[in-house]
Amino acid sequence: MKTVKVSVVTPDGPVYDSEVEMVSVRATSGELGILPGHIPLVAPLAISAVRLKKDGKTEYIAVSGGFLEVRPDQVTILAQSAELASDIDVERALRAKERAEQRVNQQRTEHTDFRRAELALQRAINRLAVSEKKF
Ligand code: ATP
Repeated sequence: MKTVKVSVVTPDGPVYDSEVEMVSVRATSGELGILPGHIPLVAPLAISAVRLKKDGKTEYIAVSGGFLEVRPDQVTILAQSAELASDIDVERALRAKERAEQRVNQQRTEHTDFRRAELALQRAINRLAVSEKKF
């Protein structure tokens, strides 16, 4: 089966490097499925799960947005943070979710902090979903 190389990179270093059969991402414009030989493209990503099909199994990575670059033989994802499902600390994400929920509820009048709290909430919810592989 044909494969495409996928690299997921964060400021802390590489998180994932492997040949896969298919990559699915959520760009801000919608879902994208990428197979080997895909035409080149660049797209901003939503806070979401990256799904990687490898040897018939699916692996999940939580990304906090970032950018996708597709070339026919290489897919690169650059994100501020990215965690493999198995590396997600569920307790930490639950605590982050609780904190963010409190801030979202308190700061409806303060636009900047509200947005920040909302993004923190989305990251926590995304991590919890990826850790449970629920979509
Ligand atoms: P927290 O408030 O728990 O730090 P956060 O959403 O503010 O959550 P980020 O700023 O997105 O955290 O990430 C900071 C670093 O911590 C990144 O390297 C990220 O991969 C890691 N990280 C954050 N939350 C988790 C988690 N629940 N499990 C594993 N790693 C995490």
